Amino acid sequence: MKVPLLDLQAQLEYLEDDIIEAVVRVIKSTRYIQGPEVEGLESAIADYCGAGYGVGVTSGTDALLASLMCLDIKQGDRVLTTPYSFFATMGVILRLGAVPVFADIDPVSFNIDPVKMAEILEADSEKTIKAIIPVHLYGQCADMKSIMELSAKYNIPVVEDAAQAIGAEYPLVGDDGAITYQKAGAIGLAGCFSFFPSKNLGCVGDGGMVVSQDKAFAEKLVLIRNHGAYPKYHHKMVGGNFRLDPIQAATLTVKLPYLESWHKKRRANARSYNSLFAKSGLIEEGKVITPTQVYGDAVVDGREVNLHIYNQYILRVDRRDELRDWLQKNDIGCEIYYPIPLHKQECLGDLCEGLNYPEAEKAAASTIALPIYPELTVEMQEYLVEKVVQFYKL
Ligand SMILES: *Cc1c(COP(=O)(O)O)cnc(C)c1O
Repeated sequence: MKVPLLDLQAQLEYLEDDIIEAVVRVIKSTRYIQGPEVEGLESAIADYCGAGYGVGVTSGTDALLASLMCLDIKQGDRVLTTPYSFFATMGVILRLGAVPVFADIDPVSFNIDPVKMAEILEADSEKTIKAIIPVHLYGQCADMKSIMELSAKYNIPVVEDAAQAIGAEYPLVGDDGAITYQKAGAIGLAGCFSFFPSKNLGCVGDGGMVVSQDKAFAEKLVLIRNHGAYPKYHHKMVGGNFRLDPIQAATLTVKLPYLESWHKKRRANARSYNSLFAKSGLIEEGKVITPTQVYGDAVVDGREVNLHIYNQYILRVDRRDELRDWLQKNDIGCEIYYPIPLHKQECLGDLCEGLNYPEAEKAAASTIALPIYPELTVEMQEYLVEKVVQFYKL
């Protein structure tokens, strides 16, 4: 049996006609830049997230870059983020001449640890930290209550890297103990999404979006997306070409109505893996640790709350690299997200020399992502777990 890490063909089987129709519609309309397809998607995504405004952009990376530009992050500013993420989270900081400052992750959620963030912010007496970028890694929100409290205390804006977490919900506990569920991206000043094909909502190329509750921020971002021009050819500031392609917007409009069902299937697949690994004996033997959903399951008005959307299903394992080679040899797709923590990336030169973030380093050395896409079958999962069991018997 072959088990791919991601099978976009399986999704295309039921979406192909609608996607082709959407693409042809855009081509025949001759509206190739901005226009109703982009605007329609912007309001649909903003509504879906419970955010006031949506601004379509070229990619998740550019969503982050344009957001930092919108905050006037410049040479020498410092930006607080996690050392354990996709490179883009740090890359956008460096591209503006700013300096990343890291707070290590919580080893259970893999997300930035607010206790460590607080220590760093407390020590920043010169107030050089100008923005905070938490990442909702693998599809589960960072501890946003603590992060927003720090944001308010130190008056530093939060740009959520929600590239892996569109639709993920965060249970905000109010002072009265009541819980309200808030969607990733709509909690901080800005939320950045990626529509890269491997994300839960992926287009047929590159695409991204920023959502915000702040009208002034969203309006400035609209200018930055288009070279800072207003009116045309009058440039109040330097922006870029960060415009979302209407063809991509049209394909996303086709896919958006399926997103909730995909989240649900991914969660069901995660539960199925959890129980297969529980039965395998590998957990007791200390070979495998299954992922923790840190905010427990909840159902509201008959709807399963998206407390985790499992963009990735991540195991912590013994002899990780050997297991990866073994799975690949057996035609089972897997990946390492991410083998090198950000502070160890070569492009930094000696910027982070001597700095250690032990939890991020441990995660980078011991985690492995298994296939979790919605169309994955139970048979494939059983086969995969059997192969993992076999590996540890070798
Ligand atoms: C995918 C991703 C990005 C970048 O998105 P692109 O659309 O590929 O530019 C940024 N941050 C995280 C955490 C991601 O997973």
